[in-house]
Amino acid sequence: MRDGHISVLVIEDEADIRQLLRTMLEREGFNVSEATTGRDGVRHFHQSHTDMVILDVGLPDLDGWQVLERIRDMSDVPVLMLTALSTERDKVRGLNAGADDYLTKPFSRVELLARLQAISRRQVSRNDPITTFDDGTMHVDFAHQEVTVDGAVVILTPTEYRLLATLARHQGQVLSSDQLIELAWDDPSGLAPSRVKYAVLRLRRKLGWGEGDDTPLETVRGFGYRYRARSR
Ligand code: CA
Repeated sequence: MRDGHISVLVIEDEADIRQLLRTMLEREGFNVSEATTGRDGVRHFHQSHTDMVILDVGLPDLDGWQVLERIRDMSDVPVLMLTALSTERDKVRGLNAGADDYLTKPFSRVELLARLQAISRRQVSRNDPITTFDDGTMHVDFAHQEVTVDGAVVILTPTEYRLLATLARHQGQVLSSDQLIELAWDDPSGLAPSRVKYAVLRLRRKLGWGEGDDTPLETVRGFGYRYRARSR
C-alpha cells in the first residue's frame, strides 16, 4: 500500500475490459496500473510495488496460468483470475495453481468489489502467524490440536485431526487424495486414495455434518476435497 491506496495491477489484453476495470477501481480509490500481455504483466510485477493482481486467463503471449506461476514464484500477493467462462475444471486448476478467486466475464461492479474485498481480507489474515482457525462454526486451535464445533469439543484421532487441520489451513482450495495422504498421514507410502474418502466420511460424522451440498467438508468429484470458505 502506498499513500493509503491499494495498488492493483490489471493484466488484460482487451482494451475495453481494462478501461472498465480502471473506471470501477479508481472510483473506489484503488491505484490502477495496466499490462496488455502476459510478459508485460510479469515485467511490471517485477518492477513495481503491487498489492493485488487481476489476471485474465486468455492473453496473447504467456497465458494467465503461466503468468500466475511466475507471480507465485515471487510472491503470495492476492490474485483474482478473470475468465471468459466459468467451469469447475478451470476453477480447480486456478485454485490449485495459487489463484485466490475468480471472476467470470461479464461481471458487475458489485461482484468485482466483493471478490477484491474477500481476497484482501484473506491476505491480512495470511500475514499473521496462524495459530487458530475460526469460521463461526468450527474452531481449530493449532497449538493445542483441539477442534470445537459450535462450542463442543470434538474428539479426533491424530490422523483425523491432521486431515481436518490441513483442509482448514487450505480453506477454499481443492486438495487431491494424494496431497492429503502426503500431508496428513504419518506413513503415506502405499496408502490407497480410498483411505481419505473413509476418513472424510468419519470426520463429517464426528463433526455432525451431512454429505449434502451444504457440508463444509466438500467432495469435489474427480479432484479431491475442500473445506469450503464460509461467507459470513
Ligand atoms: Ca483476454
